[in-house]
Amino acid sequence: MPTSLPERLVRARAVLAHHYGFPDFRPAQRRVIQSVLAGRDTLAVLPTGGGKSVCFQVPALVLDGLTVVVSPLLSLMQDQVEAARRRGMAAAALNSALDATEQRAVLADVRAGLVKLLYVSPERLERLAAGLSTAGVRVGLLAVDEAHCISEWGHDFRPSYRLLLAARIRLGRPPVIALTGSATPAVRADITTSLRLGRAGRCDLHLASFDRPNLWFGVERVTDHRDRFRRVLTSLAPRQGTAIVYAPTRRITEGLARSLHMAGFRSASYHAGLDRNRRHDVLTRFLAGGIDVVTATSAFGMGIDKPDVRVVVHWMLPATPESYYQEAGRAGRDGEASRCLLLFRKGDAELHRRQLDVTFPPERMVERAWKDPNQLAGLPSNVRDSVERLRNELGAGGEGPDWKAVRLRRKGAAARIAAMERYATTSRCRRRELLRYFGECLKRCSGCDRHPLQP
Ligand code: ADP
Ligand code: MG
Repeated sequence: MPTSLPERLVRARAVLAHHYGFPDFRPAQRRVIQSVLAGRDTLAVLPTGGGKSVCFQVPALVLDGLTVVVSPLLSLMQDQVEAARRRGMAAAALNSALDATEQRAVLADVRAGLVKLLYVSPERLERLAAGLSTAGVRVGLLAVDEAHCISEWGHDFRPSYRLLLAARIRLGRPPVIALTGSATPAVRADITTSLRLGRAGRCDLHLASFDRPNLWFGVERVTDHRDRFRRVLTSLAPRQGTAIVYAPTRRITEGLARSLHMAGFRSASYHAGLDRNRRHDVLTRFLAGGIDVVTATSAFGMGIDKPDVRVVVHWMLPATPESYYQEAGRAGRDGEASRCLLLFRKGDAELHRRQLDVTFPPERMVERAWKDPNQLAGLPSNVRDSVERLRNELGAGGEGPDWKAVRLRRKGAAARIAAMERYATTSRCRRRELLRYFGECLKRCSGCDRHPLQP
């Protein structure tokens, strides 16, 4: 590895040009990479599409030793590894999708120094850390992608993420880069403490602005389904570019696609209940511009990097500002003016609050159901799923479960619903309200239904 920081930076730029063909880093990437190459713990908060992968993949090729990347989703991991390999990087993944023989082969490559970037699921990390330290493999960097998963306050909290610190220590305390696209101040604090970033003050926080000036934000109050549909039609009337309508259920997305088809739009629905081929087909046509409107559940997310989405409509209030901003943010990736419209009626938030009782059933009821199979059998299946999930998490034996973490999680979920409701009902600037949630204080709004577009 080049010894001085300036030399490493020159090397990093060469890596970027060689493997990605990009002429330069984006400003936020440059700052992040500078911290990482200086050997400091780094927390990088960049919006979706901000280019977080480059922030750890490039240092991985500059630094000595192996870079271990913790990634939450198997499919995401697979995509990233394949993309990295296509770019000529020595990347591999270790997760439950591989059988024992394949896992051994990956580990043999790692020990032989043939791998620079090793993606691993958080569940698999502990065992990997032990294996690497036994084999004497030096880890130069630990990257934690989608790091909000660590936090009880993050919208997709995963308990196994709580074990990362132990693994970090096991790996010989390498510097850490944690990356996320959605961190409120609470989540940020949680990531920093859980990973023990920056002991002795050597942690750098890089916070890119989340503002997307070309997006217009608006909310319309609706009375019923008919009214929602009417407003969807109005919002699609300009017939420019492509549109996405996000809806809460598979059934609604399908009905909506049919109605839009009858109204003369090339429409298709997309949700997790469709088979693989069908999903692939819709995504391909969507990316190629062969569809005017996709009506989708939140399953329509990964791989959606279409630049000219002009409108994103939300049929109903989403449960969290994180998911709203992420989904609405699929509009206007090319920087051209685009609209994000949310349809809302008071009952929307109530529906999410009721869902909280399904995800977090009353503690007494859960404990009774753990003890009594008859009680359990009498519950609706979605509540039963929660009871079983909580049994796995808290264990049903011993001196009684510790509900503290679960209560905190419920509180976090309720707070996010309330934040979404505030966004929908505020009489002040929408954009300011939304960005305030992400810890950003906006000076000037570039357009929302409370602020006319500025010349
Ligand atoms: P994130 O993980 O932050 O959502 P990605 O790492 O997936 O973002 O990158 C988003 C897009 O930006 C990708 O298409 C990537 O190729 C592109 N990109 C990243 N860095 C640069 C750069 N320096 N110059 C041009 N394009 C870039
Ligand atoms: Mg990413």
